[in-house]
Amino acid sequence: MHSTIENLKREVFARNAGEPEFHQAVAEVLDSLGPVLERHPEYLEQDIVQRLCEPERQIIFRVPWVDSNGKININRGFRVEYNSALGPYKGGLRFHPSVNLSIVKFLGFEQIFKNALTGLPIGGGKGGSDFDPRGRSDRDIMAFCQSFMVELSRHIGEYTDVPAGDIGVGGREIGYLFGQYKRIQNRFEAGVLTGKGLSWGGSLVRPEATGYGTIFFAREMFRTRNESFEGKTVSVSGSGNVAIYAIEKAQQLGAKVVTASDSSGVVHDPDGIDLELLKQVKLTERARIREYADRRSSRVEFHETLSDLWRVPVDVALPCATENELDEASARALIENGVQVVAEGANMPCTADAATLLRESDSVLFGPAKAVNAGGVATSALEMQQNASRDSWSFEYTETRLDEIMVSVHDVCRKTAADYGSEGDYVLGANIAGFTKVVEAMIAQGVV
Ligand code: GLU
Repeated sequence: MHSTIENLKREVFARNAGEPEFHQAVAEVLDSLGPVLERHPEYLEQDIVQRLCEPERQIIFRVPWVDSNGKININRGFRVEYNSALGPYKGGLRFHPSVNLSIVKFLGFEQIFKNALTGLPIGGGKGGSDFDPRGRSDRDIMAFCQSFMVELSRHIGEYTDVPAGDIGVGGREIGYLFGQYKRIQNRFEAGVLTGKGLSWGGSLVRPEATGYGTIFFAREMFRTRNESFEGKTVSVSGSGNVAIYAIEKAQQLGAKVVTASDSSGVVHDPDGIDLELLKQVKLTERARIREYADRRSSRVEFHETLSDLWRVPVDVALPCATENELDEASARALIENGVQVVAEGANMPCTADAATLLRESDSVLFGPAKAVNAGGVATSALEMQQNASRDSWSFEYTETRLDEIMVSVHDVCRKTAADYGSEGDYVLGANIAGFTKVVEAMIAQGVV
């Protein structure tokens, strides 16, 4: 079986040359599949792995737009509609200069299994642009979003493909994108995008959902050891939506969160992060994180080296910034400092070597992104439900639904791992549970 999987990987890598992030995401899933392919020889007969690794549709387009200085800008737009076996393609849009086909495909591939794990009827997709929103005026952001949507609007729809936010795409951008879509189609089709504003079809808890869900998942991991967040010290990287709301919920559960970061540096606040100040600096002012250190107290340390964050001794580490932010040396430092739980709030934040080390350490519980951060997209699916029934739910009700979904994602991962003889291996459990659900639906629907 090992050589079959190696051959499958080689085939996918050769077919998608020069896409390292995509290869990394594919390898992580395929390396888990040995036991499931042994149990289900029909999956190999059906060439299901090859079919799954090939996106159903990949769209790349020019995004021309004129900025407020009158300068013409050309960006590249992407939407990879990866798999629709379980429902319409669903997944975020990322606006960041690093965006390329490899990044969008890795995110889209992960999204298939993540969405399957939620138990909700959503397929997998992802998109974005190499547009850099940093330092741009609202007017420039709007001009870009409108041009981006002119092309994207041809490919999306409530029953086809439902984008949302990711890095660089939040409420403001979804607003401009939705407005332009509505204008083009002359339809108030609320279910075409998620992450909308509350008064025009958005859902309560959607902004908090990925961060809260990360903590609900980690809480369940602790529970398997009869432990809780109460009194624990936590390091969080990032300071976007995922990080900020992970900090909020961890604090609500009695933990002390001592770090946050952005691409310019890390703050280590031994007294515990002042969340109101962090929200003010990062969400309201969109300023650099150094501002937090400057305004907070003399005890806060500021480091420019991002990996310093993982040298802080903690019980729980939550990488919530971006892919490959936590490398093998950082994983080793965390283990040596006695970390008990590492849960990935961002998508693929651990390098392959770091993930292997954490997964194989007996003392650490390691939760992979596609399970841990599924709360964001799950709440997007709840937003779609509210749109379809022209309803809006209370904060408490929506948060309870999210909590129940995260408990169920956690339990499915654990049960599946145990069923395949690897108790406590959340990576194996998440990959096999997500994979099985999607491929069963694909086989039932024939060769399409
Ligand atoms: N970008 C988020 C993710 O990585 C959310 C996607 C969505 O809500 O569709 O899952």
